[in-house]
Amino acid sequence: MYAKVIVDIAHSQVDKVFEYSCPPETRVGCRVKVPFGGRIIEGFVIGVSSSPNFAAEKIKPVTCVYDEPPALVEECFSLMERIARRYRVPKAASLRLFLPSEMRLGKVNETYIRRVKLTGLQPALTKTAKKQKEVFSFLTENGDADFTLLIKKFGNAAVKALVDKGAAEIYKVRRNRAPEYPESGDSEKVLTEAQSEAVKYIENSDKRVNLIHGVTGSGKTEIYLKIIADKLKEGKSAIFLVPEISLTPQMLSQLRARFGGSAAIMHSGLSAGERFDEWWRLRTGEAKIAIGARSAIFAPLENLGAIIIDEEHDSSYRSETSPRYSTVEIASMRAEYNDCKLVLGSATPSVESFIKAKDGEYGLVTLTERINGRPLPEIIIADMRRELRRGNPSNLSRALRGELDKTLQDGKQAIIFLNRRGYSQTVICTDCGYVAKCENCDVSLTYHSEENCLKCHYCGAKYRMLAACPECGGAHLRYSGTGTQRVVAELSQLYPSARIIRMDNDTVSGKDGHYKILKQFSEKNADILVGTQMIAKGHDFPAVTLVGILDADMSLHFSDYRSGERTFQLITQVAGRSGRAGDKGKVVLQTYSPDNYILRFAVSYDYAGFFQNEIKMRKAALFPPYSLICRIMVVADRDEKAIEALKNVFFAIDEIRKTDPQEFIFFNKMHSPIKKIQNKVRYQVLARMKSEKYLAQIYDIAVKNSSDAALVYVEENPANLS
Ligand code: ADP
Ligand code: ZN
Repeated sequence: MYAKVIVDIAHSQVDKVFEYSCPPETRVGCRVKVPFGGRIIEGFVIGVSSSPNFAAEKIKPVTCVYDEPPALVEECFSLMERIARRYRVPKAASLRLFLPSEMRLGKVNETYIRRVKLTGLQPALTKTAKKQKEVFSFLTENGDADFTLLIKKFGNAAVKALVDKGAAEIYKVRRNRAPEYPESGDSEKVLTEAQSEAVKYIENSDKRVNLIHGVTGSGKTEIYLKIIADKLKEGKSAIFLVPEISLTPQMLSQLRARFGGSAAIMHSGLSAGERFDEWWRLRTGEAKIAIGARSAIFAPLENLGAIIIDEEHDSSYRSETSPRYSTVEIASMRAEYNDCKLVLGSATPSVESFIKAKDGEYGLVTLTERINGRPLPEIIIADMRRELRRGNPSNLSRALRGELDKTLQDGKQAIIFLNRRGYSQTVICTDCGYVAKCENCDVSLTYHSEENCLKCHYCGAKYRMLAACPECGGAHLRYSGTGTQRVVAELSQLYPSARIIRMDNDTVSGKDGHYKILKQFSEKNADILVGTQMIAKGHDFPAVTLVGILDADMSLHFSDYRSGERTFQLITQVAGRSGRAGDKGKVVLQTYSPDNYILRFAVSYDYAGFFQNEIKMRKAALFPPYSLICRIMVVADRDEKAIEALKNVFFAIDEIRKTDPQEFIFFNKMHSPIKKIQNKVRYQVLARMKSEKYLAQIYDIAVKNSSDAALVYVEENPANLS
């Protein structure tokens, strides 16, 4: 037998198929170890044949064959080609996506427990072998037993003696390190008419991709679960993606309550062993639903019946490491391969998706009402310029304080949203204008009051707090810009008896970090939750009747074409946390630009108005979806190396541009907005083009110019332009 093997080295020079001789049990999809260039490395079998393609004497044998069943499902090989071509990565790099890293690096293995059973052989037992007789009758009664339990009960010697006599044998069973799930009393609900209609529409739709546009609290989750349940009944499997699963313990418990062991959870909060076992449960078909964030799109499931992407607009669905894939694109490939539906859901669909739904490429389901006709919370705008004029310099407007007073008096809960952690954004010397900056990154440092230090939010470096300005020696340091810690400090002063908790990257360390904070809040062991965008995503806290949005403007003033869209999405999402159960909710939106049209649309929940306006602007100015923005990043240790690569990339693309100048709306090379991160200098070529015509060529240019000295990579319509 001969195996076609892709070796696990993601390098373009070895990006081909190698042949090895292999034992007869080798199957397509198996992982193997093979001799390669004087070393033994891992590889993937992508084909087997009975005769070799090369001279047989030149073919080396595989060193070992892993996995029963093969780790990779058939589908991987079809997707491997497409992903490798689409994102210009070696085949090995695209295959790696399908395996949990724990497995590839060999750091984790399956664990077993030992059990003991009778063989059917009658043992010769003397009168004195009392213990052995006891073991024998125990096993006769129970069929088999856990080894550890057995020796605890009857002693090692007796068990061993029975085994030696051939009457009993020890065998291994695989142990499952299943993650623990929070309890949930959640049960299947009777679908509302709107929900049933949505399910029917999607199941009968002739469109591959279907978008559910449903206001916050319209019961989208229940629709997803019904679709999954239906597919499970047909014997199929399903993938359910959420932006960040570790943030939504309720989602976990809901799925667990509904689907029991059929659901496997893939997320970064699990231990390596748990991830490994959950993955194998999916691979063997013991579990049929994969739930997780972006990477769960690569779940090793066969016979997919549905793929669901909740909060489809979320930027976490775009990978930020190579290959920089779009999850929706990969999901479309899988849906095509399995001939199943892809369901996207959001209260604020991305402009790109919504136009496709409007143009009929996607099916569209619209849910305009919350469950049980609950009203959407009223959004009140607090004009912070006026607050300042009236002598209120604090971060909390009078309107918000008034609402907070009421909420706390009524024994309800409030969420305060602010997308910046730490105490203050920058430390500035008011004498000379010096700003404290990170030594490794081109960014200002944030003051953290709890540790009394300065932190870099890009590389994590910590610096001692300054006593005086290092430039001029002056002692007038000002903390400017507000972070979550400062808001908590202000709130604690105003409401000394309120229980205030904070959720941001500083407070959610550890495996259960998110879960603990959210649990504390949902069990009403806290009155106010202050947090960053982490608290905006998907949570369902029934007792929350007030949401305060402190810096709605912040994302508005980023100079990128999506800032309006992002602001609209954020306000709608955060506001959606209020008044989800019986009580009417309120939202106070603080802003320095109360007349901004994006805020106006958000306040009246006018997605249609927002969309119409946005798409008109993008069409006029030729921004995506009416163009494609490519950022070709060049990241290097040294300026010379970066600039050399940058020039090569720029001139290579410029050659294309010269042949077709009409296609390029914008084209230039420059420093990236953040010039240095973690001591690496950053440059970029920006190209805005009317179509994807030259995308593949641009990828090729990037690959060709990328090296160890200067990393070059392409980002398409990047969500983050820093
Ligand atoms: P969305 O995902 O659209 O924001 P959810 O799925 O979280 O909305 O639903 C909002 C609330 O309504 C949840 O508390 C959920 O339990 C409840 N809910 C959903 N569907 C039903 C139903 N058919 N009957 C009763 N309650 C429902
Ligand atoms: Zn830094």
